[in-house]
Amino acid sequence: MTHSAFDASAEAAAERDANDPLAEFRHAFAVPQTDGRPSRYLSGHSLGLMPRNAAERVGRELERWAERGVGGHFDSGGGWYAYHERFAAPLAALLNADPAEVVAMNSLTVNLHLMLVSFFEPDGARQRILIEAGAFPSDRFAVESQLRFHGLDPAIDLIELDNDGSRTIDAELLDAALAAQGERVALILLPGVQYLTGQALDLAALTKIARKHGCRIGFDLAHAIGNVPIDLRQSEPDFAVWCSYKYLNGGPGAIGGAFVNRRWLADRGRPRFEGWWGQRADQRFDASRPFDPPVTADAWQLSNPPILAMAPLEVSLELFERAGIGQLRQKSIALTAYLEALLEHECGDAVAVTTPREPDARGAQLSLRLDRSADQ
Ligand SMILES: *Cc1c(COP(=O)(O)O)cnc(C)c1O
Repeated sequence: MTHSAFDASAEAAAERDANDPLAEFRHAFAVPQTDGRPSRYLSGHSLGLMPRNAAERVGRELERWAERGVGGHFDSGGGWYAYHERFAAPLAALLNADPAEVVAMNSLTVNLHLMLVSFFEPDGARQRILIEAGAFPSDRFAVESQLRFHGLDPAIDLIELDNDGSRTIDAELLDAALAAQGERVALILLPGVQYLTGQALDLAALTKIARKHGCRIGFDLAHAIGNVPIDLRQSEPDFAVWCSYKYLNGGPGAIGGAFVNRRWLADRGRPRFEGWWGQRADQRFDASRPFDPPVTADAWQLSNPPILAMAPLEVSLELFERAGIGQLRQKSIALTAYLEALLEHECGDAVAVTTPREPDARGAQLSLRLDRSADQ
């Protein structure tokens, strides 16, 4: 966008608001106040805002607890025993996955460990894990400790995709890294949207390269789900994990999720850490039955889920369903371009955008580098 084409006036901004088909959704969220006015909240990638109906929905489960006690598990139409099942379809819609491949459970890092237990199987020379340079600390700790758990040495067996700290991650870069040592790599873990650069990765292209070199691949969708449309049917990774308190607005420490590719679901011999909530629902209380999981991602569940922590996410997913991720994405592209143009207009060279400029290669985030010398 050139300077001349961009209208930075408040009137032009108000006109954009007036023509926004999603404008009503602002009122569905509580916006924190600063000096008595709604703040410009640019922290949704860290903690999404509270959907106003969250309190009512949590209250409903508290009431159920008060009135029904343990009976609340088996209330018809909404009992806790099957509570988690209602999350699979709306989450699958955001991921373009089969609901059978999706489960809301635990937190991101726990789910990452569970997926690594199942899909990181060092075999002969193929025993390394590849991640991006500058990975989120929790992901790094998870893979390092998984390597040690298998008797391996992270100093040798953890490979970082060298992108000079800022270069974008693409299929070519991955292909070159795997051409050098691909037959030693068992598993690749990459982000859907990189949390520092804001780059949205091409999951299908990266998965294709992983397959070409005989590697498994999983994605951390922490900054991708609810931010950009994701198509796991097309990209076909082995697994994916995410948290729900960022773009999904599920609340602090909200329940996370996992995706297991359907081609693994029927594989009974898969190594897995097991718990009673992974058992077939009709046999969870039968101590005489051996572990007999359903052929869905539910099989990876361990414990009965935290209902009170899940209720806000249900409200949020209903909002996503009503707005539609396609329409949200359109607004996100327009808003991000608007901010980019406004920064250029107001700050010039003092602010550099380090996130890719092409809309396809980013979500709703702009990472900025500030030139302090321009202040003086
Ligand atoms: C936010 C984030 C996490 C957080 O992990 P939790 O287990 O939810 O605390 C992990 N990895 C990435 C890439 C993240 O962006």
